[in-house]
Amino acid sequence: MELIQSIKEAGVVGAGGAGFPSHIKLNTTVETLIVNGVECEPLLETDKYYMRHFAEELIRSIEIVGTHLKATRKIIGIKAKYKKEIQCLEHAIQKQNSKIEIKALESFYPAGDEQMLVKEILNLSIPPGGIPLAVGAVVSNVATLLDIEKSIQNVPVTSRVITVTGAVKTPTLIKVPIGTSIKACLDLAGGVLPTLYAVILGGPMMGADCNMAAIESTFVTKTLGGIIVLPEAHPIITSKRLSFKHIINRAASSCIQCRMCTDLCPRFLNGHPLWPHKVMRAIGNGEKSLEAYESALLCCECGICELYACPMGLSPKTVNQKVKQMLLSSGYKRKVTSESEPVITEAHDMRPYRKVYSNRLIARVALSEYAQIHLDDLVSYTPPQVTIGLKQHIGKPAIPCVKTGDVVEAGQCIADIEDGAMGARVHASISGTVTVIENAVVITEGIQKEARHD
Ligand code: SF4
Ligand code: SF4
Repeated sequence: MELIQSIKEAGVVGAGGAGFPSHIKLNTTVETLIVNGVECEPLLETDKYYMRHFAEELIRSIEIVGTHLKATRKIIGIKAKYKKEIQCLEHAIQKQNSKIEIKALESFYPAGDEQMLVKEILNLSIPPGGIPLAVGAVVSNVATLLDIEKSIQNVPVTSRVITVTGAVKTPTLIKVPIGTSIKACLDLAGGVLPTLYAVILGGPMMGADCNMAAIESTFVTKTLGGIIVLPEAHPIITSKRLSFKHIINRAASSCIQCRMCTDLCPRFLNGHPLWPHKVMRAIGNGEKSLEAYESALLCCECGICELYACPMGLSPKTVNQKVKQMLLSSGYKRKVTSESEPVITEAHDMRPYRKVYSNRLIARVALSEYAQIHLDDLVSYTPPQVTIGLKQHIGKPAIPCVKTGDVVEAGQCIADIEDGAMGARVHASISGTVTVIENAVVITEGIQKEARHD
C-alpha cells in the first residue's frame, strides 16, 4: 500500500502535541526532513525512551519517509547531553548503512519548537506565520515516526508511552491503550504524594491543567506524552489557575514595560514581529483596536515570558493565548502575512546570548526536586474500559462507524474521517463491546491484565 494511504488508515497524527494529521502533512516533497528528538519540556522522558529502545525502527521510518518526501538530507535534532540515545541512533544508522545525520544541540528551551529546530539545524528563520515547508523542510517527532513505521505493517495507533512523574510515589514510564483514564495512569505510578495536588497533561511549561476532580473522566489521547503531578500550591499551577480578569487587572496595575518578556521571547529572537510587552500594554490600557493585539498570533505559547522572564510575575503568555483565540474566532487576519514577507527572516543579533538554558529554567520554575529522575522501566497495563475521543487531532471529529452493542477487536477502525474533511481515523484500543457513543466511544469488557514490568 502507498505510504500516505497506510498512514491515513492507521490514524497517525503528530504525537508531539499538535495532532496534525500526518497523511496531510507528509503529502508533499521537501529538501530536508528534520526529526525532532529534542524533548525539551522539563521532566519528560518518553522520546528518550523511544530513541534508546526503538532506534532501529526509527531509522527505518526516517529512511522511508525521507524517500517519500524526496528529501536530500535527513537530520535528527537531539540534545548533545542525550549521550546514550545518540549512541543507540548511531549504532542503528551504521547497521542500516544509512546517511541520516545527527545534529547535537545545546540544551535550551524551547529547542523542540519546530521554528527553533529549523533555525538551529538549517540556520534559517521561517517567515512569521509560516511553517517549515516555507524553507523546504518538514519536521516530525520521534513518536510520530514510530507510529508511521507501524502503519506500514498495518498496525494502527492504539497506545501511548507516557512519562508519569513529579509528585507521585514511583515516577515511571507507562504504556497504556488510548482511552485509559488519567486516574489509572496515576495509580500505575503508585498514586500521588501531596493531599492537594494538580495534574498537568503534557509538559510543565505548555501542558494543560487537569482539575483533580476530572482525572477519572479525562483520558489518554494520541498526543499525550506526559502526566506531571505537582502540589496545588506550586508556582506553575498557581500561574495556570489565575482568572483572566485578575490577569488583566495585574497587567494594568503592575506591568512596568521593562520588555523582558519580548527580549527573551524565542520567536522574537528568531526575527518575528512578536512583542508581548506591547500586547500587555494594549490589554492593560483597554485598547479597542484589534491591530494592537495582532502580534499575539505569532506566539507559540512556550511560556518563557510568563514563567521565566517577567520580573513582576505577570502572564503575557496567557494574555497572548486568549487574545489569539479571540482574534481567530473573529476571523481576524494578520495585516502582514508570510506570503508578503521575505522568505528569509533575519534572527535578532542577541539570539545566541539570550537562550534559556534548561538547567536555569528548571531552577527558575521550581522543578529541581523532580528533574533528577531518569526513567527506563516501562509498566504496561490494559484497563477493562477505555473512552476513546473522536477528536484527538486538528480538524473535524471522526465519524463513528460502529454502534452501541457492537463487539470490536483491538485495532479495528471505530470512527472514520468525514468525507472531504481534515481529520484522522480512530481505532479500538482494546477488544470489547461498544457501550456508549457520544463525543467519545466507550469500549468495555476487555480482558483485564495485571500490571507488569516489561
Ligand atoms: S516582562 Fe512583565 S513587567 Fe516587563 S513588560 Fe513584560 S509583562 Fe510587563
Ligand atoms: S509564550 Fe511568550 S515567550 Fe513564548 S512565544 Fe509566546 S510571547 Fe514569546
